[in-house]
Amino acid sequence: MKRFTTVLVLALVVMAFAAPLFANGGTESSDQKIVGIAMPTQSSQRWIQDGNYMKKELESRGYKVDLQYAEDNIDAQVAQIENMIVKGADALVIAAIDGAALFNVLETAAENDVKIISYDRLIINSPHVSYYATFDNFGVGVLQGGYIVDTLDLASGAGPFNVELFAGSPDDTNAGYFFNGAMSTLQKYIDNGMVVVQSGQTDFDKVATLRWDGAVAQQRMDNILAAFYTDKKVDAVLSPYDGLSIGILSALKSVGYGSNGKALPIVTGQDAEIASMKSILAGEQASTVFKDTRVLAKRASDMVDAVLQGVEPEINDTTTYDNGTGIIPSFLEIPVAVDINNWEETLIDSGYYTKADLGM
Ligand code: BGC
Repeated sequence: MKRFTTVLVLALVVMAFAAPLFANGGTESSDQKIVGIAMPTQSSQRWIQDGNYMKKELESRGYKVDLQYAEDNIDAQVAQIENMIVKGADALVIAAIDGAALFNVLETAAENDVKIISYDRLIINSPHVSYYATFDNFGVGVLQGGYIVDTLDLASGAGPFNVELFAGSPDDTNAGYFFNGAMSTLQKYIDNGMVVVQSGQTDFDKVATLRWDGAVAQQRMDNILAAFYTDKKVDAVLSPYDGLSIGILSALKSVGYGSNGKALPIVTGQDAEIASMKSILAGEQASTVFKDTRVLAKRASDMVDAVLQGVEPEINDTTTYDNGTGIIPSFLEIPVAVDINNWEETLIDSGYYTKADLGM
């Protein structure tokens, strides 16, 4: 009897101390679920925002969050994910550096019953990806190519114009979707001669930019300008990402575009990063594509909730994203084209940036 009373008292004491821990997630701390977030790099502002928004969102739902960035080093990302598994992660949200490099580590995750959400970029060849939270990636490319088509007024028969093409990293499936989306708008004008790619570089493999590296894009633009444009003018550059756009603009400015009456070409972009928004406001970069990282972070958090509760999250696409092991059920959020005409309503009125963020 005495022993029973002691146990009862101990249990009551433990419950009293544990009570505050119930407040957040409805679970005591030892049962608090852990979510590992593996992000590619902090060299691009968007991923910092994705990581921060997701951490905040998941913590507000009672999870413990382990947020890691791998600075575009594939081995480092694999090691970070291994470490998350060892530390007891229940779910992983991963924006892969190389979509094909995670096969083994995801086998380990699955053996440990860790649920996997592919974030923004599709993880390929692994059968263990439960869901994919992303944007309409083909649609992003349509906005980028369509911006060039509209601004050059190609549909009215204007031209010919000189246009150069850039694509993203070949190990990121998004890069292909962006490029194909853009080419779905541009190809017919290449075919009818109103768009001329003086470099002749139109294949994805030729125009891809490993690791989305702005310096690599700048170098390629330097080379193209030196080889094909000494006596010609570039009218537009298809750039799939703001970090590349800034490099491409530097190359153009270094040979005199943007000064002495030599207008910069139309240069597109993606992510509405602050450096590019400042460039748009300064009349340099022409456009970008805004993908609201707050919305994607919330979407991925909903998917985490669902997989950990064993229920289906909301999805809106079951046809587009086959990762090599079958279709990954996805939710595609909507991208928005931004330029000098709509930046304020899109980015300021929505609370994404303040004018001070943009140096105003
Ligand atoms: C993302 C883009 C980003 C690019 C470079 C892609 O996977 O979808 O938003 O611009 O990676 O970081």
